[in-house]
Amino acid sequence: MEKIYLDYAASSLKHFNIYQEVIKKLEGEYANPSSSHSLGKKNYRLLTTAREKIANSINTKKENIIFTSGGTEANNMVFNHIKTIYNSGDIIISNIEHPSVNEYVNILKNDGFNIIKIKVNKNGSIDIKELENKITKNTILISVMFANNEIGVINPIEEIGEIAKKHNILFHSDIVQAYCKTDIDMEKLNIDFASVSSHKIGATNNFGFLYTKTKITPLIIGGGQENGMRSGTSDIFSALVLSECIDITKNSMKHIKEMKDYFLKKLSSENVSFLINGDVTKSLPNIVNIYFVNIQSQRLLSYLDINNIFVSAGSACKSGSIRESKIILNMFNDIKRAGRSIRFSFGFDTTKEKIDIVIEKIATLENKILNRG
Ligand code: PLP
Repeated sequence: MEKIYLDYAASSLKHFNIYQEVIKKLEGEYANPSSSHSLGKKNYRLLTTAREKIANSINTKKENIIFTSGGTEANNMVFNHIKTIYNSGDIIISNIEHPSVNEYVNILKNDGFNIIKIKVNKNGSIDIKELENKITKNTILISVMFANNEIGVINPIEEIGEIAKKHNILFHSDIVQAYCKTDIDMEKLNIDFASVSSHKIGATNNFGFLYTKTKITPLIIGGGQENGMRSGTSDIFSALVLSECIDITKNSMKHIKEMKDYFLKKLSSENVSFLINGDVTKSLPNIVNIYFVNIQSQRLLSYLDINNIFVSAGSACKSGSIRESKIILNMFNDIKRAGRSIRFSFGFDTTKEKIDIVIEKIATLENKILNRG
């Protein structure tokens, strides 16, 4: 049975052809890019080329790109920085942030910072007026993700940036899911810090970067790499792979959006009872979250799994078990809906034929549950 993978938002299939090309390029290049000899300098140039390409992908300068071990570290760096430059103050975040933001602000709360969580509406995005109303003279940071990992809905980032600028407040956005899936232009957006993870676009795990306009307090201290902001010997391989995955990801979005549209059309034509969670017209091209009115998430995921189809409820905890989705619960305050919602995320290997198989399995399970045939 062919494997069908629709969990790209958790981690994309790797672009192994790119890995092979980078391995060839790096054969014999074992020198530390910080070494002063010519072998080291050659590798430093390779790293710089990758950094430039990555900077171009969000229309910024290479000096603003700090390589990290991924989105989690990049997010942590921002809050660590805030903790070191302020003793107290108000921090505004949305109530659907990734744990690498949410768990960190819990620490800041214990340290005496005031954390204000803005609720997302039923469309899945935050309300700009509510955000502005929550700003006080004590507000030091706004942190709102570009697009959510479970529902894919894009937040009004440009407007938030304008508000932050007007009130002279730092603005961080976790752009992990949105990176290369939608246009992100740092020249136009007033974002001070942004976090990226490379495994979401088919590059390596445990790699990514922080975009920062200013010098930031290091979280990892040592040899002073990354302009003193993140120590540790540079991972040239991962940087090169990431830089080569950018165009291929951006160019695949047209196909991926077609696959998402096809999936929704097909689901309707099979008469499956479903609703879309969040405003699909304002979402990333690769993610859709579906409330299956008659099917519990746990049951559907197990059924798809035994049929070699891999998707997520979006809220698998460390043990791999499934709980109700907190994001869906926060949006609708409906425990039944939160326990019957599944995220489908599409990628470069998704085809109509694969989608046909997935929909057929979903319809079969629903018919079984309802004793229809
Ligand atoms: N932020 C969001 C929105 C994510 O979806 C993820 C990954 O699941 C992360 C941060 C963490 O990124 P990483 O896996 O690179 O640590």
